[in-house]
Amino acid sequence: MIKVISYIVILLLTALMSFFLIFNFSPSFKKSVQLKIVNQIDNIASSRISNNLNAKGSVAAEFINIPIEAREIAPDIIQVTGVGNTHVIQTSEGDIMFDTGLSIQAAKQMSALSEIYPEINLSHIILSHSHADHTGGVKFWYEDGVKIITHVEFEEEQRYLKELETYFWNRNRTLFPFMPESPPKLDLLSTGGIKPNLLVENDRPFKFTKGGMDFEIYALPGAEGSDNLVLWLPQKRVLFSGDFFGPLFPQFPNIFTMRGEKIRKPFEYIKSLEKIIDLDPVMIIPSHKDPLDNTFFINEGIRKILGATKHVHDETIKGMNSGKTVEALMREIRLPPELSITQEHGKVSWAVKSIWEYYSTWFHFDRTTELYAVPQSDIYNDLLGIIDELKMQKLIQNYIDRGDFLKALHLIEIVLFDRNYRGPVLNFENFVLKELLKQANDTTKNSYEIYWLNYKLNNNQERLEAQ
Ligand SMILES: [Zn+2]
Repeated sequence: MIKVISYIVILLLTALMSFFLIFNFSPSFKKSVQLKIVNQIDNIASSRISNNLNAKGSVAAEFINIPIEAREIAPDIIQVTGVGNTHVIQTSEGDIMFDTGLSIQAAKQMSALSEIYPEINLSHIILSHSHADHTGGVKFWYEDGVKIITHVEFEEEQRYLKELETYFWNRNRTLFPFMPESPPKLDLLSTGGIKPNLLVENDRPFKFTKGGMDFEIYALPGAEGSDNLVLWLPQKRVLFSGDFFGPLFPQFPNIFTMRGEKIRKPFEYIKSLEKIIDLDPVMIIPSHKDPLDNTFFINEGIRKILGATKHVHDETIKGMNSGKTVEALMREIRLPPELSITQEHGKVSWAVKSIWEYYSTWFHFDRTTELYAVPQSDIYNDLLGIIDELKMQKLIQNYIDRGDFLKALHLIEIVLFDRNYRGPVLNFENFVLKELLKQANDTTKNSYEIYWLNYKLNNNQERLEAQ
């Protein structure tokens, strides 16, 4: 019996040892094992999102449900769909890749591509910017000798996104509650670690020819960060836009995103839009969703985005010079009807605030206390101690009756700052948040505003249930 057991143990050990030897010394075997693991993680993540009630109907859920398939969208151009699209441009001397999708979708994107194009021979990977939904697949696609082309600012963007990973992860999880508790530990799946070997500078396009096809890479900062670039195929007049236009077209730009990240320079974005108008594309291939090939729609769309961004930028500057407050400008500045475009992603009033703070930074020259590290909320508890609670509730009710929901919310926030508070003001908060959500849904439908209000409503619900 002991002999049989030791025989089995020896067999198992030999199998394990050969697995580790092959795993470590055969890169292709290692990659195939890693891809299988990644594929399993993706299956779990997708079902987690589909099962999560909060994700239903959201843009994030819509994206994760996009089927992963490879399709020829123009001669010599293959798009592999997913949360972020991966593109392959075929030439007789090798293939160029533009953007690489999410890491957890890499295995599925690779197998979808191999079904219609098994003999891929990559020479360059071009990355539109450093966001994980565009760079996640690099570690899987990369082979020795492949050139990785990015904007010169890519590494700096990658650095701060990595260093602040936990901070941004926690913020994003508030808005997207279906996200796992912490960032992926597996090196292959985590962000960062990409080392570009060809950098493109602003105003200095990088051009090359391969298999008779011309490639021009333009740095167009200001959209989703300072490291944006686009790929232009001049013979075909096709533009690979990455995230330059955002997930919708035409949409008002998300100048500073409310979920955080560094500033996006509004004037750079305007200059970048003008550059695209000069190129005059007949087809735009974004790294999210479907290509656009209606030239009238493309031209009209870009002109509207440019006009709308310029209008909001110039009106904000005018208002700043005339001494108006940022809040007054947030209320007053509107898109004229001829420039009206969706604010589902970027919101005009938030752009006003962003532009204001972009030019004048953190001190609003409003209150002295702004200069010091004691927030107003530090006195809320003492204040409540001397305020008649019933009078406070009556004031909140009056504001609500007059439709002054934001004034009501200011008072509500003072009361609810005490996490142990249980009482009728929680019901007022519930009512006001629902009204704001209704207004958001009836007007801009801005997804980030809706995510935030839902998050606060869930919090409110938990507190109401606990009382
Ligand atoms: Zn993206």
